[in-house]
Amino acid sequence: MRAIVLDRPGSFRVADVPDPVPGPGQVVVKVECCGICGTDLHIVDGEFPPTPYPITPGHEFAGTVVASAADASYRVPVGARVAVDPSLYCGHCRRCRSGRDNLCENWAAIGDTVDGAFAEYVAVPAANAYLLPDHLDGQVGAMVEPLACSVHGLRRLGSVFGDTVVLTGAGTMGLLLLQLLVHAGAGPVTVVDRVPERLEVARKLGAALVATDLSALDGVRFEVGVDATGVPAVIQGVSALLDRGGRLLVFGVSPADAAISLSPFRVYNDEITVTGSMAILRSFAPAVDLLANGAVDPRPLLSEPLPLDQFGEALRRVRAGQGIKWHIRPS
Ligand SMILES: [Zn+2]
Ligand SMILES: [Zn+2]
Repeated sequence: MRAIVLDRPGSFRVADVPDPVPGPGQVVVKVECCGICGTDLHIVDGEFPPTPYPITPGHEFAGTVVASAADASYRVPVGARVAVDPSLYCGHCRRCRSGRDNLCENWAAIGDTVDGAFAEYVAVPAANAYLLPDHLDGQVGAMVEPLACSVHGLRRLGSVFGDTVVLTGAGTMGLLLLQLLVHAGAGPVTVVDRVPERLEVARKLGAALVATDLSALDGVRFEVGVDATGVPAVIQGVSALLDRGGRLLVFGVSPADAAISLSPFRVYNDEITVTGSMAILRSFAPAVDLLANGAVDPRPLLSEPLPLDQFGEALRRVRAGQGIKWHIRPS
């Protein structure tokens, strides 16, 4: 089969590699679509420490089961269309056993630490495959994974019913979070992004107010802040806009050594809560349902998928901030 092989940071090619075969408990999925996300850029650039090289990246995908190990076929038969949770948890460390699998001490993931879906085929544990209803195409199916991360984020935040919200970053994750916030009954949601075209999409998806810079909100106070940029200065700016009793969800990925300044007096005196959200935790099935019943509409985010041999061009468009969400269609 053909697959993207990343030999070392900065160096990838379309290669002919052996077709995967299903190991015990596994199925092989023919990939319909695989999304490119910020983590893929970090893996390509050598900035995602757990990555072993060479590797085939790609962790946001959907496709059709074409082969199944004997012990897996009763759950996920050949011919089933599925979206795949890329998370690989050990199940026996202290955190897995306390129900926090996403913080597993032996955390691994398809496309991050083992070969992923920028390929025609990928082998995955049957337990990670979730059936897709027929009316969801492969590109929408590939949006289950980022939506599952957003669902976990909203769960971490708790009820937002009636709360005023400021959301920074109107990329893929921001626009999915926006729809979940609106769906969960948040009060007016204000979205901040530098790119006016993205704010137009945010408006269509339920943003009550939009701004191109946090400074436009000086003097306004919000009950909830959600950052989907990962930019430390932006996160600090959002924290400064929180009302007393305010809650901040740090969703975007910052550099590991970045720091922000937060007044401990405010945390004490104003009862400020800061919450993080890391990947997926039992949020994959709800994400399938939210897309299946139309509660979340990913289509305004999507560009026409590109073939495998345009992987480099797709990365270039992501880096250039062109469009919102790009997918590779391997065959
Ligand atoms: Zn991702
Ligand atoms: Zn574990």
